[in-house]
Amino acid sequence: MPATLLTRIAELVTNEGDLGFFTAIEDAALIIEDGRVAWTGAAAQAPAADAVVDVAGRAVLPGFVDSHAHLVFGGERSAEFAARMAGRSYAAGGILTTVQATRTASDAELRGNLRRLADELRSQGTTTFECKSGYGLTLHDEERSVALAAEVTSEVTYLGAHVVPPEYAADVAGYVDLVRGPILSACAPYARWIDVFCETGAFGPDEAKAILTAGQAAGLSARMHANQLGAGPGVQVAAQVGAASVDHCTYLTRSDVDAITSTGMVATLLPGAEFSTRHPYPDARRLIDSGATVALATDCNPGSSFTSSMPFCIALAVREMRMTTEEAIWSATAGGARALRRPDVGRLSAGARADLVLLDAPSHAYLAYRPGVPLVAAVWKDGVLVHGAP
Ligand SMILES: [Zn+2]
Repeated sequence: MPATLLTRIAELVTNEGDLGFFTAIEDAALIIEDGRVAWTGAAAQAPAADAVVDVAGRAVLPGFVDSHAHLVFGGERSAEFAARMAGRSYAAGGILTTVQATRTASDAELRGNLRRLADELRSQGTTTFECKSGYGLTLHDEERSVALAAEVTSEVTYLGAHVVPPEYAADVAGYVDLVRGPILSACAPYARWIDVFCETGAFGPDEAKAILTAGQAAGLSARMHANQLGAGPGVQVAAQVGAASVDHCTYLTRSDVDAITSTGMVATLLPGAEFSTRHPYPDARRLIDSGATVALATDCNPGSSFTSSMPFCIALAVREMRMTTEEAIWSATAGGARALRRPDVGRLSAGARADLVLLDAPSHAYLAYRPGVPLVAAVWKDGVLVHGAP
């Protein structure tokens, strides 16, 4: 396979090393071979290659890793958003609106919506993304949700425990048995992950633990939605079961932060949700300054965060959560990779997948400095140009 040299890179973000710090090379070059990064270093020292791409003084970053997205659903909820902006508050029950629309949608409708969103993600620089079920909540609808998700990503999450469906409102235990029994058996072949929404109005700590451990027994790895709408036991449950990531983390106690740092579990922050619900943002500084590994993700979903844009989340993280530009970029790339336990992505050093973003800008800082501006000039996935042009 021919080698391609990208040269005259003003700033090459590499995230090299295991310490969890942003790293970059100025006046850099990179060689792609067989879908992987074969070499990185100073442009002046670059070895010869079969093809040369001159990026003319712009920045190259690892493709974004969006470790939290809900992309299989029917319908939309713009009226609910508009009403909320006019003063009504968000509650977990709003999910049921989307459950109804998803159950009545055809496979073709769900697939069309999913593929449109996957294209949106890619065109904004995301090269790895997680995708959850959770709007079906029946065996048939959860199974087709994970099967559809598996068509667009290898990071599929079974989220049968998103919310209790209305037909089980009087029999929550019966629904938990379904989620950890027959629905799990139907979904596990398509999924890598199992997730639970542990929150008042969704699932309690004992239910969450029973569901996650059943998923682990079926070969899935655990992640969790927790502490989004208020303080609660979710983070502790996630730590007890060895979850890869606990997501939202908007309301944390000191012992929650300790549980995150002592287990090495990733804290995934989803500022698009706080933006779209007018909730306070999570305290990213407290987590980072305590030594936590922080990831940033979109939480793309039709109810509480209908953005597919990692650049938007980076801008929010910097402006609203006081992350440095370097921390935000690291969390949106290497942090997401850790949340998905994917050592092959989120970095650009020899051996990593050649998943790259070329910005129409000389520095990563432009993603927060020029918010809302389409700065992604080109995207490579496994060394193949999949969006834009260099
Ligand atoms: Zn979510």
